[in-house]
Amino acid sequence: MCTAAANPGAASRKPKTAAIAPPEKTYRRLRKRIHLLCVLIFVALPFFNVMRFDIPRQRFYFAGYELWINEFGIIFFSLMFLMFVVVAMAILYGRIFCGYLCPQMIFSETSWELEARLKTLVNRKLISWPAGRRRVAARLLFLAVAAIASVFLAFVFTSYFVEPRDLLRRLLSIDLVTAGGITGAVVTLITWLDFAFVRQRFCTTVCPYGYLQGLLVDANSLLVHYRDPGRDCIDCGKCVRVCGMQIDIRDSPYQLECVHCGECVDACNQILARLGKPGLIHYAWGEKGELTGNKAEPWRRRIGMRDPKRIAVVLVLLFYLTGLGAALSMRHAVLVRVTADRAKSLYQVEPDGAVSNRFRVNLANRSGKPARVRFRIEGLPDARLSIEDVRLEPGDAAETHLTVSARPFAAAREVNRLRIVAVAEPDQTEDVFDVTFLMPPRRPSP
Ligand code: SF4
Ligand code: SF4
Repeated sequence: MCTAAANPGAASRKPKTAAIAPPEKTYRRLRKRIHLLCVLIFVALPFFNVMRFDIPRQRFYFAGYELWINEFGIIFFSLMFLMFVVVAMAILYGRIFCGYLCPQMIFSETSWELEARLKTLVNRKLISWPAGRRRVAARLLFLAVAAIASVFLAFVFTSYFVEPRDLLRRLLSIDLVTAGGITGAVVTLITWLDFAFVRQRFCTTVCPYGYLQGLLVDANSLLVHYRDPGRDCIDCGKCVRVCGMQIDIRDSPYQLECVHCGECVDACNQILARLGKPGLIHYAWGEKGELTGNKAEPWRRRIGMRDPKRIAVVLVLLFYLTGLGAALSMRHAVLVRVTADRAKSLYQVEPDGAVSNRFRVNLANRSGKPARVRFRIEGLPDARLSIEDVRLEPGDAAETHLTVSARPFAAAREVNRLRIVAVAEPDQTEDVFDVTFLMPPRRPSP
């Protein structure tokens, strides 16, 4: 304050310097970091069995669990949960998913930027060539690089359906015969066509997410909104030039093409900063609502829970997540089923007078380690089992028979209750089967 009073020239220069320095491309930088994280997650998920619908082996890998196709309930619940996450995200944060998380958008933008870089490189290195020839060379170079990238991406994508080592074997042997090999080749071709020709056109033609958002939009939806009450727009057109979807956000915040990437927000902030003014395009909660990041608002509203509908969505999501967690934690890695097998006879009387009943046993080791299932009987005096344990290798499924034998005892009846207990090692999970044991009718004493 004292310095400014002593030197008025310094005071007048200071604001000028601050106005010239343009702000950082905040949203762009944030988005690129999130894109990198998403690519790493996209590549890692199938390789670490976090998520894969393994079609050849009929397994669904989810959150580290190996679910068998006969565990349809949990698989259905998991898929429903993933779908609900996408819908909840649309309700809470509009099309943020499109601009920040969607693989199609990430790879479209990457291919767009890659092509621009290759064009610059070719123009610099082949400066002596005519412009038309340089354009063709840059395009061909881009198509070749895109083809290599497509093989990698198609490999990762197909790994969501075929085990990666199995897929690599098929790729190295140029397998175009099996279903997995053909799928890999078709996905590679589609990825390459998408990279080279379709890109963001996919978002406005095929993708249903934008249309879904159109249905869900309300007064609190997150939007990218142009607000110019002071008529400060200088019509520079930079917000339009930077837009990958080639739209003018000033026309409407509800355009189907807008993926809420925030490039236009950064662009306007940078341009108007040169004039010492704030930008005119913002992220806002609804057309008439607050701008995002308003610290005067309670945290609940700042993170998007702005009305009872949105709070209910978060609660349902948590309820779903808890249910899924409980279902997965209660699941037994070794499946054991015991049912009475009376197809041939109700019971058999052995030469030594003992009576035996047959039971069918179905076993499946759905874990990644060898397992052993031990059987024991409760509720039938002096009963014997034909097998006491079964060993299973990882992924093994088996059907066997178990015979329970017992000598007639004083309290025996024609229908006796008995309990078969199966304990699976090493997890020590216990399955209990209450079954009946049949015996011949007792002859009345003479
Ligand atoms: S209008 Fe803005 S937020 Fe919407 S897609 Fe274009 S640059 Fe991104
Ligand atoms: S970047 Fe800002 S100032 Fe320039 S045209 Fe767009 S809204 Fe107007």
